[in-house]
Amino acid sequence: MTFPELSGYLDRLESTTSRNDLVKTLAELYTKTSPDEIQPLTYLIQGRLVPFFEPVEIGLGEKLVVAAIAQAFGTPLDDVAKLFGRVGDLGLVAAQLAGHGSSSALPVTEVHARLMDIAGAAGAGSVEKKRSLFAALLKHADSASAKHLVRIALGRLRLGIGDPTVLDALSFARKGDRSLRPVLEAAYNRVSDLGLIARTFWAGGEPEVNALEVTVGRPIRSQLAERLPNPEAVIKKLGPVAVQPKYDGIRVQIHKSGEVVRVFSRNLEDYTRMFSELTAAARGLTDDTLILDGEAIAYSKELEEYLPFQLTASRRRQHGIEQAARELPLVAFVFDILYRNGRDLTDLPYEERLALVDEVIAGSTVLLPAPIIKTDSVEVLTKTLLDYISQGLEGVVVKRPDSKYQAGARNFNWVKLKRHTSGELSDTVDLVLLGYYFGKGKRAEFGVGALLAGVYDAENDRFATITKLGTGLSDAEWRQIHERADTLQVDQRPARVDSILVPDVWLKPEVVVEVMADEITPSPRHTAGKVGDEPGFALRFPRVVSFRGADKRAEDATTVHEIAELFRQQRERKQPA
Ligand code: AMP
Repeated sequence: MTFPELSGYLDRLESTTSRNDLVKTLAELYTKTSPDEIQPLTYLIQGRLVPFFEPVEIGLGEKLVVAAIAQAFGTPLDDVAKLFGRVGDLGLVAAQLAGHGSSSALPVTEVHARLMDIAGAAGAGSVEKKRSLFAALLKHADSASAKHLVRIALGRLRLGIGDPTVLDALSFARKGDRSLRPVLEAAYNRVSDLGLIARTFWAGGEPEVNALEVTVGRPIRSQLAERLPNPEAVIKKLGPVAVQPKYDGIRVQIHKSGEVVRVFSRNLEDYTRMFSELTAAARGLTDDTLILDGEAIAYSKELEEYLPFQLTASRRRQHGIEQAARELPLVAFVFDILYRNGRDLTDLPYEERLALVDEVIAGSTVLLPAPIIKTDSVEVLTKTLLDYISQGLEGVVVKRPDSKYQAGARNFNWVKLKRHTSGELSDTVDLVLLGYYFGKGKRAEFGVGALLAGVYDAENDRFATITKLGTGLSDAEWRQIHERADTLQVDQRPARVDSILVPDVWLKPEVVVEVMADEITPSPRHTAGKVGDEPGFALRFPRVVSFRGADKRAEDATTVHEIAELFRQQRERKQPA
């Protein structure tokens, strides 16, 4: 496949307004690719060169791209800059200047290889080198190719294709339906690399996909926790449990292979360099290969005090890493082990895995075992919960002692219980901003009135609306929302957004906010949980509690499934059996 052909598909995908059409168009694209092409192509359609967990960036900023465009098309720098000022999108600038001539149509694999060269250029003279390599690539591009090349180079190709959509499309391309999605998804949960899955599937079919194994150096999708309203419900549903503190820090998966250690976040970012003290501590462990799962948190040993999430989060930075590490060192409470010395441990019962954790990190002062208390008593669980909360922890996570590690799953093997609010345990939800309405009166000053927010339908890779948000934000935060919203504004409803309401402005689903509400009510106006004529769910008296920073992607927001479960629990509380 040539890059101009791919660009034609990218144009089609960009203008698609239905999720089904996204899947079909992508499937059609896939049917035209060979096993050699499908891996780089899968990264490119997500605006990347490598899987998300590999920290390879093309590293071309706007200024450099302007210079490369000028060089490629023989246009004076000033003219390119002026055009950029008028059009506001360097992709469109390149498309205009490239004109219509489609001369040499490079294969997708070659374009990918050349972009990798640009990403790899480092050291003295690398800025020049990046610019001229990119200019050489643009020079022969037709208009649509130039547009997409520029967007990929700037990291701005966002077609709104979620991982489940790619998996559905792969299944569709081979089978004409979604029936292989579970197989592909299970493999994805083990290896987190869509390109690898696509290539394996193309070359070796279902059996080879099933044979993809957990490997050190490739993150495993994190096991997640369900919720239950109170200790009674936990003991009733799970029986005997292992109770652990819930640390309010950052999830880390630590991979060690000899001297090489990598630290991954829950959404697959590479934190190896940023969390250097964890990296160093893992390097010092005696086992040759390991995968550990835990929570990194700023912890004061002198005061025996867990520091607030904002302080831990301040360690996610690109600059001043060493100084920050000295001033605010992290520890990691390790609560799981998934791999040791060549052996996948995810099928072992939790209790056995935890015993191995103790053994593996014994003696470390940075990697600390998360304590557990085993109990089947409501009283003990309640006391433990209150105890931890009084120590400044978020609550507890209870785990089934006999459960496997289920990569990527959110189920009742792990259940979180958080702090008390007004006599009942309740929890906030994480919502994705989908649009906004122009405000009246005071709000109009900030350019945003109410926000339209939704939850994630993980099964169908869609976002469904659940509420409008109008309160809880300070003036400064409204302004901040407006600024963020400006960069996410789109002309039409994104293909993955499902909504009956039509806001004044649609947003790409990217910003996640934490919201508290009084209760969940049935509502015909919202699409979350709506099936046919049955009403969906809405939130009553919602208020924004905080912005979730980079730690949650839109796909990590609360799901429709969780909302349905919370609604069920709420009804049980109101009408005790
Ligand atoms: P939530 O983000 O509210 O869904 O809660 C799940 C998160 O709690 C996990 O992803 C971890 O980052 C964090 N966590 C803190 N302590 C623990 C623990 N002991 N076991 C499992 N997860 C924990």
